[in-house]
Amino acid sequence: MFRQITLTEEMRSRLAKSPEAHKYDHGHALILAGSPGKGGAARLAARAALRVGAGLVTLACPQISLAENAAQLTAIMLTALPDAYSLRGHFQDPRLNALCLGPGLGLPRALEMVPAALWLRRPTVLDADALTAFTADPGPLFNAMHDQTVITPHQGEFRRLFPDLAQGLEDGSLPRVAAARQAAARINCTVLLKGPETAIAHPSGAAAVHSATGPRAAPWLATAGSGDVLAGIITGLMARGLTPFEAACTGTWLHVEAALSFGPGLIAEDLPEELPKVFRALN
Ligand code: AMP
Ligand code: MG
Repeated sequence: MFRQITLTEEMRSRLAKSPEAHKYDHGHALILAGSPGKGGAARLAARAALRVGAGLVTLACPQISLAENAAQLTAIMLTALPDAYSLRGHFQDPRLNALCLGPGLGLPRALEMVPAALWLRRPTVLDADALTAFTADPGPLFNAMHDQTVITPHQGEFRRLFPDLAQGLEDGSLPRVAAARQAAARINCTVLLKGPETAIAHPSGAAAVHSATGPRAAPWLATAGSGDVLAGIITGLMARGLTPFEAACTGTWLHVEAALSFGPGLIAEDLPEELPKVFRALN
């Protein structure tokens, strides 16, 4: 059994903010992303994390990218993060409670940062280059995975991680939700398999699907940077205290709802800016 993702009363109440709350009550997300020429992916993820309601967001980027990011971002804090050792240093602060690793990160940096990020055992989204980092020698990284992690592969990334399951998807012998479930059980984390239909699975067997057909289909989400926004949304929701599986399901719903205001002209930077309207419509 799996559920179709629609707005539930539980989701609505998890997204509300208490009038008593301080920004630190809404969490602090660290977005470890970007490299020269790929700073846009990092900024999309960071803006999405803030727009979805994380109290604070810090973008950790290479020193060389600081000036470019500072010229484009205001409410998002910036830090140069030179190496994996300094990633551990940042997480000495207990208020830093969610991590996004991967958009535009570049493979060399991903290879260094993914093991360090998994060692922290904090709520973490692994996307894009952080997933490519598994390809060379997946065994030790698969063993380091933990249940506070969400991975967000598109079909190509999924194929590199789980070639046997991807084969089943491609020859039609394995439904998407079954592939996501088997992957989640295999590596003990929430798996969000992106594409025209998104399938989300938890190691417990819980699963959900967002269908690409019907009135809430948004095929114009197939555009550059759209997945980086989704990674930021899920990270922001985990900073707010949603569990990885809840954040993956709710984040998928919000991502599509934001897209539905647009049409084929959608570009990824439209999505975070639309989230306030999606939230307003919930009340
Ligand atoms: P990425 O490939 O990482 O940029 O992620 C693409 C995003 O767009 C994911 O959230 C996918 O689920 C979504 N997406 C891709 N193709 C479609 C489609 N045909 N219809 C609806 N959503 C899509
Ligand atoms: Mg992507």
